[in-house]
Amino acid sequence: MLKCYDCMEKGKDSEAVSVCIVCGKGLCMDHARRMDLPIWSGNYPTPAPAKRLKKELPRILCNYCIGQTMVDAFD
Ligand SMILES: [Zn+2]
Ligand SMILES: [Zn+2]
Repeated sequence: MLKCYDCMEKGKDSEAVSVCIVCGKGLCMDHARRMDLPIWSGNYPTPAPAKRLKKELPRILCNYCIGQTMVDAFD
């Protein structure tokens, strides 16, 4: 089973509910971040509504990657 990577770094052991679409690490509910920036819409095809689990969750990023993306977007 996939574990939340951010929790693991803090010595916790949480089941991942999602994965970061950028780096692919597992994320629990607390650490998964929805990415809803305008730059990602436009031509970007919208995935099916978030009922299905695993790989098809839309635009979930970890804290680290969302930080990096923000920097790229607004620099
Ligand atoms: Zn976590
Ligand atoms: Zn990430």
